Amino acid sequence: MASMQFGCAALLSTVMLIVHSPVTLAQAPPDQPAVTVRGQTYTPRSILSRNMGTDEDQTTAFPPHKIAGNVYYVGTRTLSSFLVTTPAGHILINSTYERNVRTIETSVTQLGFKFSDIKILLGTHAHGDHQEGDALVKELTSAQVMAMAEDVPALEAIKPNGKAHPIDRMLRDGEAITLGGTTLVAHLTAGHTRGCTTWTMTTQEGGKDVNVVFACSYRSPATVTPGIESELNRTFKVVRSLPCDVPLGDHPAQYSMAAKYARVKPGEPNPFIDPANCWVEAEIQEAMLRAQLKLQQGAKP
Ligand SMILES: [Zn+2]
Repeated sequence: MASMQFGCAALLSTVMLIVHSPVTLAQAPPDQPAVTVRGQTYTPRSILSRNMGTDEDQTTAFPPHKIAGNVYYVGTRTLSSFLVTTPAGHILINSTYERNVRTIETSVTQLGFKFSDIKILLGTHAHGDHQEGDALVKELTSAQVMAMAEDVPALEAIKPNGKAHPIDRMLRDGEAITLGGTTLVAHLTAGHTRGCTTWTMTTQEGGKDVNVVFACSYRSPATVTPGIESELNRTFKVVRSLPCDVPLGDHPAQYSMAAKYARVKPGEPNPFIDPANCWVEAEIQEAMLRAQLKLQQGAKP
């Protein structure tokens, strides 16, 4: 019976595919607008594929490495996860998908740190590819989960296998979190989600203080409402006002991680210290927002 049902369903879907595919193709939205920033052209689909890569890219560990001072990369090829180490325990930014949590744990261990020493779990924004694993990280480490208040409703809707999303402390724009001498400041940079958070901290590299910026995604949704437009207008101003020497992002391509990692050499300048490229991602997303708004206005009768 089961196999017959399966057979019918398979046949039905084949028929539907034949009937519907020309319509589906005709309805696929065009890949626009296209914007050119610093000589590189971007479209909505090119940005999405640059950010996410393949399924394998999303779940395969990128070699874990030191970025600067007490900041390390422990994520996959296309989903960032950052470890900030302190003598009083560690802070993890972005658990990514729940299926990546054990991969992140292995990366933390390979760097010589203990996953169970993670005391605080933070995130950049309430989408599954960045924060779905929060409940499992908490289960494994007992870390305190802290999130920008504006993202809490969306976070609570992320329930892998029905697990409730843990929230131990709700944060406000500008709030600071200190652990073992390191302070991270939460900046509300809304638009991609209501509570999208860009984190900043200072670390020491080569005997100097450097400013690290863990950027949220600034990509606007396909349809820009007036509310989202004003949130993003504010966000682009905020991000450009942050002190920045080490630009990071919640997808590694946002700060050209792989190219920089390839340039890491003992005795050479640290490629992750790159103040000239601090706002490239904001420039791309702002150009995209303006072009999207133009298209939307042109589409009005
Ligand atoms: Zn997102």
